[in-house]
Amino acid sequence: MGEHMELPVLPLRGVIVFPHLVLHLDVGRERSIKALDEAMLQDNIILLVAQKEAGVDDPELEDLFDVGTVATIKQMLKLPGGTIRILVEGIKRARIEKVLEMEPYMKVLVDDVEEEKSRHSEMEALTRHVLHQFEQHIKLSKKIPADVLANVSNITEPGRLADVIASHLTLKIEQKQDILAAFSPKVRLEILAELINREMEILELEKKIGMRVRKQMEKTQKEYYLREQVKAIHKELGEEDERAAEVDDFREKIAEAQLPEDAEKKAVKELDRLEKMPPAAAEAVVIRTYLDWLLELPWSTQTEDRLELREVERILDEDHYGLEKVKERIVEYLAVRRLTRKIKGPILCLIGPPGVGKTSLARSIARAIERKFVRISLGGVRDEAEIRGHRRTYVGALPGRIIQGIRQAKSRNPVFLLDEVDKMAMDFRGDPSSALLEVLDPEQNNTFSDHYIETPFDLSQVMFITTANNRYNIPQPLLDRMEAIYLPGYTEEEKVKIAQHHLIPKQLEENGLTDKSLRVSEGTLRHIVREYTREAGVRNLERELAVICRKTAREVVQKSNYHLTVTRSNLHKYLGPPRYRFGLAEKNNEVGVVTGVAWTETGGELLAIEVTLMKGKGKLILTGKLGDVMQESAQAALSYIRSRVNALGISENFYEEYDLHIHVPEGAIPKDGPSAGVAMATAMISALTRTPVNHFVAMTGEITLRGRVLPVGGVKEKILAAHRAGIKTIILPQDNKKDVAEIPQNVRRRMEFVLVEHMDQVLPRALMQGDENETKKSGANKNSQG
Ligand code: ADP
Repeated sequence: MGEHMELPVLPLRGVIVFPHLVLHLDVGRERSIKALDEAMLQDNIILLVAQKEAGVDDPELEDLFDVGTVATIKQMLKLPGGTIRILVEGIKRARIEKVLEMEPYMKVLVDDVEEEKSRHSEMEALTRHVLHQFEQHIKLSKKIPADVLANVSNITEPGRLADVIASHLTLKIEQKQDILAAFSPKVRLEILAELINREMEILELEKKIGMRVRKQMEKTQKEYYLREQVKAIHKELGEEDERAAEVDDFREKIAEAQLPEDAEKKAVKELDRLEKMPPAAAEAVVIRTYLDWLLELPWSTQTEDRLELREVERILDEDHYGLEKVKERIVEYLAVRRLTRKIKGPILCLIGPPGVGKTSLARSIARAIERKFVRISLGGVRDEAEIRGHRRTYVGALPGRIIQGIRQAKSRNPVFLLDEVDKMAMDFRGDPSSALLEVLDPEQNNTFSDHYIETPFDLSQVMFITTANNRYNIPQPLLDRMEAIYLPGYTEEEKVKIAQHHLIPKQLEENGLTDKSLRVSEGTLRHIVREYTREAGVRNLERELAVICRKTAREVVQKSNYHLTVTRSNLHKYLGPPRYRFGLAEKNNEVGVVTGVAWTETGGELLAIEVTLMKGKGKLILTGKLGDVMQESAQAALSYIRSRVNALGISENFYEEYDLHIHVPEGAIPKDGPSAGVAMATAMISALTRTPVNHFVAMTGEITLRGRVLPVGGVKEKILAAHRAGIKTIILPQDNKKDVAEIPQNVRRRMEFVLVEHMDQVLPRALMQGDENETKKSGANKNSQG
């Protein structure tokens, strides 16, 4: 315990003055100036104590720390404005015991403590340690001048050393005060060691961060610099304004486009990227194209439906002749949709040969309900990406056909025709039909994602309609989703009517003609149908009529007042010689020649089947590019015949003497399937028994080894084809009876349908048994719908 002293107090803000330290202080507060005045009277001694809070203006005792520094004032200088600058030197620490006076200045009683001066080995070690640390610290921090270390090293007294080091460190007031408050040099050194340690760690960290920041800065600076250079280059090249205008333009469009949230985010992001890119960069072109696509899609544009069924009916009738069942079905379909007010439901699939009006029906539906119409063909599509688009990482990537169609429609609820769903192929690039499934699935298609567009598009308002030529080539899962409507083809009568009411008026209009300048009589039309076309639909018919119209148009231009009546006798001038021989496949009853009928994707076709016997060893020779199933069918027919030689009146050992040659001419028709079995058997029996075949009879049906006749497909098309060719009688499997019911009245009236279950019923009708008149007496199950 030392002696007590009474001292005036100078409260300090934000500084601590350690003993042995000399420094300037600026004094401005009134009480402080009074304290200075007092000190000048008593040996220039004053107590310097730090305030706990620098912000307090009139500190009381509790606002001050309780340990301060006794100091001498060495100089005083009056500054302008009443502030006094003093130079002080710290002498020693002192603890405030109590306040003696507060006015006119603070006067306290202090306990004047003598500094411990012990030096033992532990102290020595501690001192060295702190000194070493300080040295390291100086190296690291670079804030403290190097000569400080030299001065510090000369201090021998540990307490003093601690004070000097503490005064050089950048420490918080509280930390410095802790050191000041430690009267024991040992404690002081310990605190210091701890503080320097922590400070070093922080410095290390700062250094690391500093380095990182510098690197980053360098990089940013470099980029900035380069970008500025690029900008300057663009400016020189006059591109800058253009790009800014482009970006602004896009921004405006994005604001106007009413994109869904996701799409808008995407657009803005891409635009930001574009902005940062030099305009000529390859990537910029990609982004520009992408933005164009995104903005051109009808995200929120749609048309109002008209669902007045009478109007719909009227329009369908206006556009198409006949097709009553089909139109009825379409109207029903729309009625259901109108009632349920939703689009979910099966998708219409129009199935039939080319030229029967599938596409134009779909177009007509769109017109009737006042929707936009788009059509894409799926024929030959083999890659999923054609449906769903390519990712933008591919060079020249584009959206798939669905999105392309939507853009073309400029409406999010068009009638969307997917043509030829049966012509899709499948290969290693993925199955397009599964992508199509997703498009058509009402549960999924409200978030259809195209690989290119990347953000989902809502297809749920689209009315999809599909078409196909062949039901059997449609992938089953797709077919399950769809409601099939069949259009088997037209009869001659219907074709003539279609030509009169639709095709001719249409062609006249397209060629700028009136019905006065061209007349085509009904008889002539029939002639064109028979001898210039052979088809289930009316596509070629329309083409022929277009030829006539074009030629007429030329004449009209050359000679005013021209009008033309096309007749049978002048027809060849316009269309050239007849292209097809109308009528039967064969002109006479011949041995070994049977008229079969084949189903093809373009409708039905007649098929002549010829059999000749040759000396040989029972070989079966098949020519005419017959498919495997058809060849097997021929084998089955032969086996049947061999098992029935007696009943058929054929020499038992015919196959030891003869080879049988079956030939099916007419190159364009694919020849496969089992449905020619009956016809081949009949031709073989005719050849073996040398009985001619009735050339007015056509036939179709599969044959078993026992001679049973099994049902076949495509019967409607086959009947229409036979009718077109002037066949009067057609032999059909009993089980196909239901198909006959769907044949138009006027065809049924003109043909006889013979429904059979067994080969035995075929022969009496097909073979001319001696006398021609005998053909009528037969055991066949005669169908009398005609
Ligand atoms: P598809 O799509 O079945 O191949 P299209 O729809 O292209 O056939 O029809 C070919 C042409 O025949 C079109 O000009 C169409 O208007 C016309 N057409 C087909 N059927 C009819 C019909 N029943 N009434 C009027 N025109 C028809």
